[in-house]
Amino acid sequence: MSGQEVTVLVIEDEPEIRRFLRTTLHAHGFRLYEAVTGGDGLAEAKSRNPDLILIDLGLPDLDGTELIRQVREWTSTPIIVLSARDQEQMKVAALDLGADDYVTKPFGVNELLARMRAALRHVARISETRGDSVFTLGELRIDLGRRQIFVSGKEIHLTPIEYKLLTTLVRHAGKVLTHRQLLKEVWGPLRVEEAHYLRVYMRQLRSKLEENPAQPRYLHTELGVGYRLRTE
Ligand code: CA
Repeated sequence: MSGQEVTVLVIEDEPEIRRFLRTTLHAHGFRLYEAVTGGDGLAEAKSRNPDLILIDLGLPDLDGTELIRQVREWTSTPIIVLSARDQEQMKVAALDLGADDYVTKPFGVNELLARMRAALRHVARISETRGDSVFTLGELRIDLGRRQIFVSGKEIHLTPIEYKLLTTLVRHAGKVLTHRQLLKEVWGPLRVEEAHYLRVYMRQLRSKLEENPAQPRYLHTELGVGYRLRTE
């Protein structure tokens, strides 16, 4: 990442992971602040006001989801969750509470950097004027201004629900959206438990947009969590 230094706060009690993050993020030009407990993390977040926060879900003093809830009371700074393999439900809860994304331990540098870039880009996109309303990836082109979708130059017709589902994913491109978030956004708050709606419509979207719907290139399934529109 070039340009001015991006500040990152990591709230994590495992020294090895902090050491790994310190080395790799520093090497990629980030400035890192560290906290070992949720209490210190919250205080650091308030005093440093970082550009991005990495939060371990298993902290010694505080449930990571509770920490996310408290951070979200006053800031929309992107949060990426560092979760263990056995924390599936907590991970989904963290996303529903406003975390932007997650990586599962052990994670690689490239995966983490990609998630961080997507989260930071998303912030930049929201704060920009809404000029950039065309999303393109591979053969897919989505023009939000004109409400037109093209695959390989051919216009694709979507139902209103399909369109709403797709544009919700486009607005959060590169980020995971939970089943609950998608259901709420597309069908409304009374339908957040109706996961089968999502499966049906996602299948329809894939059959219209993907060359091989069984191995989707654009609309990626995050098992047990939700969906992500790829950006690369
Ligand atoms: Ca931990």
